[in-house]
Amino acid sequence: MSAGAPAQAFPSKLLRNVAGVWFGPAAERALLASVDVLVSEGRVTQVGSELAAPDGCEVIEAAHLLVLPGFVNAHHHLTQQLTRTISPGGDVFEWLAACYPVWARLTAAQAGIGARIGLAELALTGVTTTADLSYYFPAGRPDIFDAQIEAARDIGIRMLAVRGGMLDVGDAVRGRIGDSIASTIESPDTLLAELERAATQYHGPAQESMLRIGMGLTEPLWEAPSLMRELAALAEAHGLAAHTHLHPRPGDLEACAPGSIADRLAELGWWNDRLWVAHGTRLDAGLLDRMIADGVGFVTCPSSNARLGTSLAPAWRFAERGGLPSIGVDGAASNDGGDMLGEIRLTWQIQRHASSGSEYFAGLTPRTVLDWATVGGAKALGWQGLGELTIGGLADLACFDVSGLEYVGAQDLLDALVLCGVSHRAELVLVGGKAVVRDGRLVGVDEDELAHQGRAATLELFTS
Ligand SMILES: [Zn+2]
Repeated sequence: MSAGAPAQAFPSKLLRNVAGVWFGPAAERALLASVDVLVSEGRVTQVGSELAAPDGCEVIEAAHLLVLPGFVNAHHHLTQQLTRTISPGGDVFEWLAACYPVWARLTAAQAGIGARIGLAELALTGVTTTADLSYYFPAGRPDIFDAQIEAARDIGIRMLAVRGGMLDVGDAVRGRIGDSIASTIESPDTLLAELERAATQYHGPAQESMLRIGMGLTEPLWEAPSLMRELAALAEAHGLAAHTHLHPRPGDLEACAPGSIADRLAELGWWNDRLWVAHGTRLDAGLLDRMIADGVGFVTCPSSNARLGTSLAPAWRFAERGGLPSIGVDGAASNDGGDMLGEIRLTWQIQRHASSGSEYFAGLTPRTVLDWATVGGAKALGWQGLGELTIGGLADLACFDVSGLEYVGAQDLLDALVLCGVSHRAELVLVGGKAVVRDGRLVGVDEDELAHQGRAATLELFTS
């Protein structure tokens, strides 16, 4: 099976008498209690009381489980997985200056182990689809990208793998580390060739695909408009989504003058409904409105922003104006965990705090951020059908055990999932009907062995 092929069908499963299921199309979904959920051939086929189990169906007693559509993590950098707790006291440039020399040594084998760990952490916290933006491939090692794809295959969640790039580390970082890694950054020709290869070799556009390819850059290259146009043309030719960081600094605004950043990106072929941008910490009302009008997506990553001391992402303002944001954990170098449910909680807390005093505040409930983490992610990635649990929809389910001490006293299970809890581990996760997490553990992957491999690869990376 190629990585882009649909997941094969698995024996049907009947979740019997669930504690709750968040069921229906996003605009009208409701929390149903004490019903059964039947999945078959990769799809949800029935939700109701006392359903009959088809021949050969596995029946799972689920009275302790809250069932949601699987989360869509809309921003990550799996290449960073082995570089946690780097420069925890540094600002963003000091942190990057500490990271780049280590990332310059990363091998495909190390990247593959790191990606398995990152993807495992996502699956264990309820993610069934993740985006990834990989943008630094040290010279001669484009196979880092292939290693990450192999890792997604092993862990079993869907991935939109953005084959990104960069041309420079920027003046602020170069001022700290000199030109030591300049020669390791791939050329524009290599970037274009590798994006073409990735799209041709791996991209699976079907809704039930396990792998899509995206086009991206770590940030817009205002100084290289022809490369930007060539990348956009490749993305359009292959039907790829596009992704980049966008938190405009004064230099970006000057580079795009006299028009706006949206105008400039539109001229370069990037500003359309296939683009979603990360962080957006400096987006003003005008840009937010343009994004909403033109279908450009927005992903917020609060742990990373908090760690690096950047300004607060205006996700609630995007939502207040009619947009649907998404949530991402960001790479493990700036979010030292990969806990999606934790990121959802922090998003709610931070955006509540930021919107206090506004009319939007009262409507920013735990369900709001669960929307952002499900259908918001689907919209950002342009991947229809993700993030909703509907009859005939994909059987991508995240199930959490809500029978423990930490949920006692909760009046509403969905609110409780976001607000309560000491553990964010999912109990059961299905992707296309296949269990990738069961009883709170990865299926088919030895977590202890993976951790052992990860520690060895980290030691090798830091001492090479
Ligand atoms: Zn990022």
